Amino acid sequence: MGKGASRKSFMSKKEKYRGKDFIRQMIHHDIDSGINDGRLATRFPPEPNGYLHIGHALSICINFGIAKEFDAPCYLRFDDTNPAKESEEYVNSIMEDVKWLGFDWGNNLAHASDYFGSIHELALELIEKDLAYVDSQTSEELKNTRGTLNTPGTKSPYRDRSIAENLGLFERMKNGEFENGEHVLRAKIDMSSPNINLRDPIIYRILHMDHQKTGEEWCIYPMYDFAHTLSDALEGTTHSLCTLEFEDHRPLYEWFLDNLSLPTKPRQIEFSRLNVEHTITSKRKLAELIDSGHVEGWDDPRMPTISGLRKRGYPASAIREFCRRVGITKKDKSIEMSLLESTVREQLDASCNRAMAILKPLKITIKNYPEGETEILEAKNHPKNEEMGSRELPFSQNILIEKDDFMENPDKDFFRLSPGSEVRLRYAYIIKCEEVIKNENDEIVELICSYDPDTKSGSGTSTKKVKSAIHWVSENHSIGGKVNLFETLYTDQNPKSDSPLNPDSIIELDQPAYEQSLSKAKIGSRFQFERNGYFIVDQIEGDELIFNRIVTLKDTWAKIQKKKK
Ligand code: ATP
Ligand code: MG
Repeated sequence: MGKGASRKSFMSKKEKYRGKDFIRQMIHHDIDSGINDGRLATRFPPEPNGYLHIGHALSICINFGIAKEFDAPCYLRFDDTNPAKESEEYVNSIMEDVKWLGFDWGNNLAHASDYFGSIHELALELIEKDLAYVDSQTSEELKNTRGTLNTPGTKSPYRDRSIAENLGLFERMKNGEFENGEHVLRAKIDMSSPNINLRDPIIYRILHMDHQKTGEEWCIYPMYDFAHTLSDALEGTTHSLCTLEFEDHRPLYEWFLDNLSLPTKPRQIEFSRLNVEHTITSKRKLAELIDSGHVEGWDDPRMPTISGLRKRGYPASAIREFCRRVGITKKDKSIEMSLLESTVREQLDASCNRAMAILKPLKITIKNYPEGETEILEAKNHPKNEEMGSRELPFSQNILIEKDDFMENPDKDFFRLSPGSEVRLRYAYIIKCEEVIKNENDEIVELICSYDPDTKSGSGTSTKKVKSAIHWVSENHSIGGKVNLFETLYTDQNPKSDSPLNPDSIIELDQPAYEQSLSKAKIGSRFQFERNGYFIVDQIEGDELIFNRIVTLKDTWAKIQKKKK
């Protein structure tokens, strides 16, 4: 190769790495250097002990996303080594969520339990190399002899058992001759290592419990670190991407790889966990919210679970885009909720039909509009996209507007309806408030207005201008139902498990009025309710529609209020 060519290859390599995160750079480097034959395989390894959350979505996007870019396999591997906490329900929900996020494991579905036989043989290999021993200390003794960050651990009195004795005892553990906790198998590494993970970690324990996949075949189960490393290596994973808390486990990961005969030598690379403000991303803590009855289940729309976000109406594309924007780093961070919400908003803005819905209605009677008459107006489904078509809006004497769009004693910045003022009804006419009707409790129950027939949107001859246009629906043509509004589960920005829960995390509105065209909406249809936000049909009961609010629109009025304070 001439000088020019090698320079060219160097330049192209640099070009290849430019702008890439450190994981992609390392992968490019390893492939270019021919490590593991220049092959790439990643895996996403959930423990099926709960539903996946937004943090897992990041890991899924990284593992499946990178594999896709290289046209390489990504395994979906269930790390099912703890039968006490695992279930088929979780396995199924995880598969559904990964698919919904838009990823495909193809034939590469695996379970740590698929490898239990091989993992057991590899444990025997360690014993035969005098690198593992059966320890018969009680769990209390095991705990007390581990040492601390500043003091070394203490060697077990059983550490020097002969290979033959260890093999015999381990065989008997496997045959079910002992009770839970009577013995464990430990790797023989270094009780005085400054890294506690290397102080003779337990690699097998006795657990008389059926496993959701292997049934009653085993009464000893490999511990997480052992099973995880070996599963990676056995299935041919080349890059084991995990979160930072496993950084201290990497020496153990590598110790297993160095001391056992394995087909692949994967490289573990850590990145920081994704945390989102005002929420928690820990399956255990999320399970507590369910158990204590604070939320209705894993897919409650307030939950940061993938199934909760789906029910909330977040599109998969928005979650993927959010993960892309979060990126891969080594720094622990808490991402603002507003980044997630603005990503959702952006995606929905382009794809959702507009519609009018009144969440908290106030009745208007237009006194000079002919009683009993209905007029059909037209409205575009999307202001910027003609192709999305238009819909018909019936208009009549009785209409409903939002309570908030009327103020009896308006501030000077309030340009919507107030006594004597005029406002435009979108796609319709300019109306003027002539009279306020109240009930015996002094609550406003109805407004009497007049309309100007020359101000019809699009065809009116009047040149009258008003400062504000509000949404409305015709009362007699409207559909009813319910609307659920959601706020964050916690008011604390970085909640702990004992942080107080937001009492207003769900608000149910039971008197909404939707425009007539929504009678054709289906479960899962999403709309932008003009001036109100994005909503998804959660349920349909008879002719009633139950909507969940996905996300608000930007609230400019709130900003004005804030400025004034
Ligand atoms: P949890 O703390 O919620 O129980 P976990 O780490 O125990 O999470 P696993 O099922 O073991 O859950 O996770 C599967 C994969 O997802 C792991 O590789 C883990 O590193 C990754 N993961 C879990 N939580 C996050 C997060 N918040 N951000 C990024 N990746 C995550
Ligand atoms: Mg875990």
